[in-house]
Amino acid sequence: MALVTTKEMFKRAYEGKYSVGAFNVDNLETFQAVIQAAKETKSPVIIQITENVIKYLGITYLNHMVQAAVEDTGVEVALHLDHGRSVEICKYCVDHGFTSVMIDASAYDFEKNIEMTKEVVEYAHERGVVVESELGAIDGKEEDIDVSDKYGRFTHPQDVVEFVTRTGIDSLAIAIGTAHGAYKFKPGQIPSLRFDILEEIEEKLPGFPIVLHGSSSVPKERLALINKYGGDMAESIGVPEKLLTEASHHAVCKINVGTDLRVAFTGEIRKVFFEQPKEYEIRKYTTPAREAVKEMVKDKMINVFECAGHAVMDK
Ligand SMILES: [Zn+2]
Repeated sequence: MALVTTKEMFKRAYEGKYSVGAFNVDNLETFQAVIQAAKETKSPVIIQITENVIKYLGITYLNHMVQAAVEDTGVEVALHLDHGRSVEICKYCVDHGFTSVMIDASAYDFEKNIEMTKEVVEYAHERGVVVESELGAIDGKEEDIDVSDKYGRFTHPQDVVEFVTRTGIDSLAIAIGTAHGAYKFKPGQIPSLRFDILEEIEEKLPGFPIVLHGSSSVPKERLALINKYGGDMAESIGVPEKLLTEASHHAVCKINVGTDLRVAFTGEIRKVFFEQPKEYEIRKYTTPAREAVKEMVKDKMINVFECAGHAVMDK
């Protein structure tokens, strides 16, 4: 299996009513953890890279890391640019081995968003790369929502057909209540997603893959581990896993997770540093961290996204 686009992955996910996990990785250890989880559960997987991670790793290392994963494990993997804020960075990634890019022009008005997205789509499609774009404000906080508008800052279903048709995108990221970072819902607030909006969108775009950003569940025991070993993380409420499974049964084909990996990795490293203050062998503290991320990702693939067993594997 070579590096693939998300086209076939999403087609199967849509029909099979599951979703593919898109995991943000930062370094070799988190990358290996996600790839190994995909291999062990026979899951298709999307490796998500932000512009900052490209700067951190270097494009050459990144490309060879992904090639090594394909060669070593035979996993079905797509390499995706997460939140490309400019047309230029998207084009750069299309030219440098990515099989999927996200243009995030959601901060601009509707027409400008269409214009920038369309430019990326034309460039990417000519080169066999697929494109994700975003409508609505995913960071949406409760107090910012205009309650006189049924949809508030969420994606307005009446806009999606025009957006998808005029841009030619391959998948659409929507805002229905998920949020980036560790602090998604306020303490005391019951986390919920706007399934009414999702259903309206899927009725308007039958068969079209939908993407959810900011979908970490921020497990309490993971935050507790960080705090137990000298960390200082405030209480956090993530997106409940059962809501993500429900979304997967709808048109959601890609679910983005970043925070959960960081929280798992950090907690395990803190534990080693705290319990064994004389330890300085790097492998001694990165190994349990990598293992924890792998187990967490496997659990999501099997029990939350339900994509386990659905990969086209070489080995
Ligand atoms: Zn995002």
